[in-house]
Amino acid sequence: MSTEERAQRLKNLPPAKRRLLLELLQKEADRARNVRSIPRRAPSVSAGSSASAESVELSFAQQRLWFLERLLPGTPAYNLPFAVRLEGPLDRGALRRSLCEVVRRHEVLRARFVASGERLRQVIAPVHDFPLPVLDLAGLPRAAGEAETHRRVREESRRPFDLERDLALRAALVRRGPEEHFLLFTMHHIASDGWSIGNLIREMAALYGAFQAGLPPPLPELPIQYADYAAWQRGWLVGEVLERQLAYWRRQLAGAPELLELPTDRPRPSVQSFRGAVRRTALTADLSLALAHLGREAGATPFMILLAGFQALLCRQSGQTDIVVGSPIANRTRPEVEPLIGFFINTLALRAEMADAPSFRCLLGRVSEVTLAAYDHQDLPFERLVDELGLARSLSYPPLYQVVFTLQNTGSGAPLRLGEDLRLTLLDDDNGTAKFDLALTLAASDEGFRGTFDYRTDLFDGTTIERLSHHLRELLAGAVADPERRVSSLALLGTAERQQLLREWRGPGDTFAESCLNDLFAGWAARTPDAVAVVSPGEALTYDGLARRASALAFRLFESGIQPGERVALCAERSLGMVVGILGILEAGCAYVPLDPSQPRERLGLLLEDTGARMAVATGREALADFPGWRERTLLVVEGEEPGGTLRPRPTLGPGAPAYVIYTSGSTGKPKGVMVTHGNVARLFAATAHWFGFGPTDVWTLFHSYTFDFSVWELWGPLAHGGRLVVVPHWVSRSPEAFYDLLARERVTFLNQTPSAFRQLIPVALAAGEAGTPALRWVVFGGEALDPRSLAPWVERYGETGPGLVNMYGITETTVHVTYRRLGRREIESGWGSVIGVPIPDLAVSLLDPAGQPVPAGVAGEMYVGGAGVAVGYLDRPELTAERFVPDPLGAGDRLYRTGDLGRFRADGQLEYLGRIDHQVKIRGFRIELGEIEATLGQHPAVAACVVMVDEAGGDKRLAA
Ligand code: AMP
Ligand code: MG
Repeated sequence: MSTEERAQRLKNLPPAKRRLLLELLQKEADRARNVRSIPRRAPSVSAGSSASAESVELSFAQQRLWFLERLLPGTPAYNLPFAVRLEGPLDRGALRRSLCEVVRRHEVLRARFVASGERLRQVIAPVHDFPLPVLDLAGLPRAAGEAETHRRVREESRRPFDLERDLALRAALVRRGPEEHFLLFTMHHIASDGWSIGNLIREMAALYGAFQAGLPPPLPELPIQYADYAAWQRGWLVGEVLERQLAYWRRQLAGAPELLELPTDRPRPSVQSFRGAVRRTALTADLSLALAHLGREAGATPFMILLAGFQALLCRQSGQTDIVVGSPIANRTRPEVEPLIGFFINTLALRAEMADAPSFRCLLGRVSEVTLAAYDHQDLPFERLVDELGLARSLSYPPLYQVVFTLQNTGSGAPLRLGEDLRLTLLDDDNGTAKFDLALTLAASDEGFRGTFDYRTDLFDGTTIERLSHHLRELLAGAVADPERRVSSLALLGTAERQQLLREWRGPGDTFAESCLNDLFAGWAARTPDAVAVVSPGEALTYDGLARRASALAFRLFESGIQPGERVALCAERSLGMVVGILGILEAGCAYVPLDPSQPRERLGLLLEDTGARMAVATGREALADFPGWRERTLLVVEGEEPGGTLRPRPTLGPGAPAYVIYTSGSTGKPKGVMVTHGNVARLFAATAHWFGFGPTDVWTLFHSYTFDFSVWELWGPLAHGGRLVVVPHWVSRSPEAFYDLLARERVTFLNQTPSAFRQLIPVALAAGEAGTPALRWVVFGGEALDPRSLAPWVERYGETGPGLVNMYGITETTVHVTYRRLGRREIESGWGSVIGVPIPDLAVSLLDPAGQPVPAGVAGEMYVGGAGVAVGYLDRPELTAERFVPDPLGAGDRLYRTGDLGRFRADGQLEYLGRIDHQVKIRGFRIELGEIEATLGQHPAVAACVVMVDEAGGDKRLAA
């Protein structure tokens, strides 16, 4: 019967029967494997009887380890250290003889690994002496002795082996007093594994007792040696046996992801180091019992249920649904290898697929089947599998799986005494290494499952692992409480963490004054009428001058029958007239809809139609002239025109009235207009003033197109605070040199840039010499992801004394900016990701998973933005508005904007931007839905299908279809 058939039949059995049958099958498989025993090699060297060296083959596992060692010579990662404390009188002679005898018995401990040409061999030679260096710390005071012992243990455990020269076992003795010693063992993994440690201690105990009593060594000679196993393995695992195993694994692992990308605290180095640390973890007795109970009910072993929980956790942490975890097996299924010291352990790649959001019970069924099938094919050494699968090798992470789970058998039976009167306790001290990104090791105890997380310190902080440990407990508790619940919706967060995420990190929820933007402006026009409000090359307007002209335009709009609350299209070149147009429309109580005259006519026509505007304002007569009916409906802002009548009293609609409608790219081919109110904008400044200190001495640039909402920030930063706005002509904004000249000439203090524009400005600024940009106070980045490292040359030059660098993440739908992050040397040099900081105090950011639950710190989630910046919605698009502006799933009654952006909270509560979940892209800050372009291209009769992509060759992004 094939494995699949068997699995199919098993599925249909009741759990108790199924379990029984599984156990029988397992035994049968073991027996089948045991029938042919492993032969001894021809007797050229048999356990120390000959003085000559013998050269033999390596096992597959040894061979691979040897290559790994070659790759990273001197790494302690493959040291297997352990230390025991010995209490009682010690017979040093008996101890040494015991060690000698162990090494004599186990050839592999005295094998040297020698490469000659292509061939790699282990050379086994007799040894006559076993060095046991002694360090006497008996003279030291207690605490100092303790500290020194630990230092020694650690040092000893990290000292590398020279596989060509050293024995694979070394020992050292630390004397702390007449009745207290520490015995430090280190074996190299090439000759050992966890099981071997138990064997070693058992042999030591028996030998020491005998030697101490003056008796001959009591242990029977070993049935075979490790080298016999190696030779046998190479002869056995060929032909059909090999094929059967390979076929299973090839099928089972086809298309498995190469890398499990857990959320890390630091980017993955291009070359993995093996630096690691350990955190303890424990499940309560109650939870452990409940798990065991659920396991029995479902016909699954404790291993299976814990693995299912761990894989579910990894799925939820990484957002990947196809999870491969390695799990070591002792691989000592034949009785003759049981007493050996040697590298037998093998690891099985256990894969769980969760794309269909299974219930926990269903996942458990899958994990059980996969585990049993893997046991059935456990003879294929991992190293052969990696070769056979032809996996791409990376120096940055181990192949096939990067995360490991082990459930240890308890009661390994290691004795707790040496001889009669020497009490032995195993110390656990980690040696600061990790072979995998993350390894969870558990063992059953009376108080429940407990164990450790071993983790790479290149990737994770201890606190992150601590949280992971909490999440595992929460998830398992949820699973036992309701096994039918989907794995994707099991809660990960405990109460405290949930509180922290929901209360503290989301933002303080402050409120700020909302006013009308033109009122703020009018206030300054009354206070400082003669201050310059806006300049562009060769022209300037004072606050009073701008107020009068805006008012005149408002009057004309009013005369032409426009009512407050309407939308008015604005089609303006970048000029003073554009600013007059915006203010004039607002003064009339209307919302402006900015249209870019340089855009294709078709698009302009479409937008013009969509705005529902009855009137337009333009700076040039030609702007809208060729749209039928619009010539008559367009008012011109005539430059230099003397103000006519003024509008009194000004209409007061209040801050809840829309101030503008900005169109953004739509994924299905149609752009959509975002309606933003006066209040949305006014509170943005009130809520960020404590960071920036806006005021009348600041000089800002209008650098960005007014169809892009960064311009809203650039306009009202000065005009609502008595400052000065420099309108940057379009050609200047496209020339870093010309723009830099303008910054210096106009003594600009407040600069706003997309990172891509600023990247071009940096070299120009640096080339300009010491003069630099003396007036600049702030540089605010926004509109697209910032790689902090791109600022390194700037910071190098200006250091911390230069202008404040700030990254602000934002979206049109939530009014320009959402978050704030001051960037210092640390961010810029540390290679951190795109850190966007904390929400503006009256906004809230929630990170939710696809099931609408908050994700833990470190884990990627979709960003939802709530608070006073959230726009009214899309103009005349109720369904789309309902889709993107959603009720807070956490029930706080707020409306949240669903951004489509992925982010995560770092452990310190700072947000990091991770990218998009859809096909929206940013090119020089322009927001583009690839779907919109595809839909448009698809209208052409010659285009059957098309795909639009971003071409990033040369660091400059371009669209390609
Ligand atoms: P827009 O509506 O044109 O402002 O575009 C909003 C989108 O730009 C966001 O949803 C993000 O994808 C991206 N974005 C804006 N600011 C940032 C930032 N500081 N870091 C990363 N992405 C950003
Ligand atoms: Mg923006």
